[in-house]
Amino acid sequence: MTPTEPDGAEFVAFELSCPTCLGDAFHLLELSASLGPAGIRARCAACDHEGQVFDATTDGYDGVYGHLDFLKTAQTAKPLEGKSDVLLGAVQVRAGFSYSIPMSELMEHAEEARVEPQDLFDWFYILTKTADVEAWEWTWDFECA
Ligand SMILES: [Zn+2]
Repeated sequence: MTPTEPDGAEFVAFELSCPTCLGDAFHLLELSASLGPAGIRARCAACDHEGQVFDATTDGYDGVYGHLDFLKTAQTAKPLEGKSDVLLGAVQVRAGFSYSIPMSELMEHAEEARVEPQDLFDWFYILTKTADVEAWEWTWDFECA
């Protein structure tokens, strides 16, 4: 575990690569509804392919249960601003999912909601870095439960 990963929960993280050109550098866009942030999109720096990385209204515990339908209003997308200057250029992106619900309870909820247990993550986060540095930087997160 690195200091940038969440503490006290099970988590899994994946590095993004472009489904079209396999590039690993992206520009991130934050989707916002009138009541707050609602998701993240990534646009490939090499080929401009754009895709949804996270949608709070359908992904994670609250998304699966429809708790955040109020965010399904007109959403605007704007370049994500990070805590440092890293996001001014294209960045490598790690998408993380954490689970603090005990596994047995998670399995019950998954069966009830007819989804896979891994769909019911309760926190989503984005780490970023540029190609020339080692350290991943905590960039964005969303509590999904
Ligand atoms: Zn690409």
